[in-house]
Amino acid sequence: MVDGVFELSLGFVNMHLVVTDDGVVLVDTGLPRRSARIEKALQSIHKSIGEVRSILLTHHHFDHTGNVADLRTRSGARVFAHAADAPVISGAIRPEITSRMVRLVSRFMSAEPTKIDQVISGDGSEPLPGFTAVHTPGHTRGHVSYLLDRDGGVLFAGDAAAGRKGAVSSAPRAAAVDLAELDRSVAKLASHDFEYAVFGHGQAVTGKAVEKFRTYAATLP
Ligand SMILES: [Zn+2]
Ligand SMILES: [Zn+2]
Repeated sequence: MVDGVFELSLGFVNMHLVVTDDGVVLVDTGLPRRSARIEKALQSIHKSIGEVRSILLTHHHFDHTGNVADLRTRSGARVFAHAADAPVISGAIRPEITSRMVRLVSRFMSAEPTKIDQVISGDGSEPLPGFTAVHTPGHTRGHVSYLLDRDGGVLFAGDAAAGRKGAVSSAPRAAAVDLAELDRSVAKLASHDFEYAVFGHGQAVTGKAVEKFRTYAATLP
């Protein structure tokens, strides 16, 4: 899709590997106990776990933070997350329960807590060269999308939205903490400019992806 950007699908969730001048950056880490799969994906692009320098988390849900503790320990990578989600990821506070389904799932599955090395606060900061953090609350309070300045822009949307058949649609709304806020976050993303978008769930959108975001945003209240 884009030079040096790879999607790894782990069951129903995606994570992304980005090759940069300063090592490999992971965006999210998939479901728990998938470290071996991630290591294989690294090998397939001729990288080792030791070359993972940074892990950018979009939000605290276990299908995105499932392997972060293990990967951080084994690679020595620095972990980034937003201030509002960081205490959940580090185990300091418990996640908000937004629906019965979330309560049920969280009883059976959770991610091992890990220390957050760098907390992202506010909006528009640059956690790493070339990456801009866009605070997109609503799915969780500290949800962050990341914009990579490469090939016209690559958006890592996390669960702010989802990809479906070349279009942009909603991520599971039952999991969201604040739907009005989520819709505002989609509008915020649509005000940026990017050529490609990848998601936590569903297929990537390529070619003027921001237009697909604008189309989706126009359907929201
Ligand atoms: Zn989520
Ligand atoms: Zn998810």
